[in-house]
Amino acid sequence: MIKDLQAEILRLKKEKNITILAHSYVAEEIQEIADYTGDSFKLSQLAQQDKNDTLIMCGVHFMAETCKILSPEKKVILSSPCAGCPMAEQVSADELIELKKQYPDYTVVAYINTTAALKEHCDVCVTSSSALEICSKIENKNILFIPDCNLGAFVKEKLPEKNVQLINGGCPVHAAVKEQAVLDAKAAHPDALLLVHPECKPEVCKHADYIGSTSGIVDYAVKSDAKEFIIGTEISIAEHLQYICPDKKFYPLSKNLICADMKSTTLVDVYNCLTGNGGLEINMPDEQIKRASVCIDKMLELG
Ligand code: SF4
Repeated sequence: MIKDLQAEILRLKKEKNITILAHSYVAEEIQEIADYTGDSFKLSQLAQQDKNDTLIMCGVHFMAETCKILSPEKKVILSSPCAGCPMAEQVSADELIELKKQYPDYTVVAYINTTAALKEHCDVCVTSSSALEICSKIENKNILFIPDCNLGAFVKEKLPEKNVQLINGGCPVHAAVKEQAVLDAKAAHPDALLLVHPECKPEVCKHADYIGSTSGIVDYAVKSDAKEFIIGTEISIAEHLQYICPDKKFYPLSKNLICADMKSTTLVDVYNCLTGNGGLEINMPDEQIKRASVCIDKMLELG
C-alpha cells in the first residue's frame, strides 16, 4: 500500500515537474520520495537552484515561507497546512518592535526558525550551524538574539567578547529534555558518544561530545570511528542514521524528542498536493518578501 502510493507520487511529480523537499524530521517514507532532504535553509537553497517552478515543502510553515522568500517566482506549497513551528511563532512582530525600543543599540539576530513577519524586522538571520560564525563577524558588540534562548546561550558562551541579550523562547521539543535523561542514557550506553542540537538546554549540552545542527550531527556520526551514539535531537535522526549506518548503533536521547508538527505530513498529504487537492500555497506580498530577504541576504554575506 505505502509502496503503491510512493510509486504514484514519484510518477506524478515527474509528469508535472514538481519538486518535493523533505526536512530531516519528517517521516522516513516521505524522505524516500523527496528530491531533496536535509535542514530547512539548505532545502530552500536547493529549491532555488532547481529547474522546476513548483515546490512542495514537507516541513513546517516557516520553512515554506523561507522557500518563497528565496524563490518568489516559484509556486510553493506546504504539504500539511496545519504544520507550524511553536518556536517560530513565539514572538510577534509587534513584540519585537517593542523589544527593539528596549535595546536600541543592538543588532537583532534571528534564528532562521522565525516567521517572515518577524524576519522583516531583523538585521541578520542565522542557522544552527552558522550562528557562531555569523555572530562572531557582526561588528556590533551588542546582539539581541531571538527567539531561541538555548541556541543563544550556546553563542553567548562561545563568544564572551559579545554582549548577547536573550529572550525567553525556544524549541519546546528540544528544551523539554532534562539533564537526568542524559545521565540515564549515558548509564545505559557508557561507550556511546553524545551528539546534541544546540536547541537543547545548556545543562544537557554541557555533557555532549559534539554540539551541532541536524546535518552536523548526521555528518559527525557518519564520519566518526565510534560505533555507538546517543542522539540528542528529533527522534527521526536516530532512526535515519540507523538506516544509513547499519554497522553502528544509535539511541535517541529521549523518546519524547518528537516534533508533532513535523510528523503531521503524511504521504496522502503529498499526493493531494500533487493532484491539486490539498496543501497550502504560500502567498506573500512582494514588499514583505523584499523586507524579509534583507536579513537572509546579510546571513549569506557574513556566512
Ligand atoms: S523541532 Fe522545534 S524548532 Fe523544529 S519545527 Fe518542531 S518545534 Fe519547531
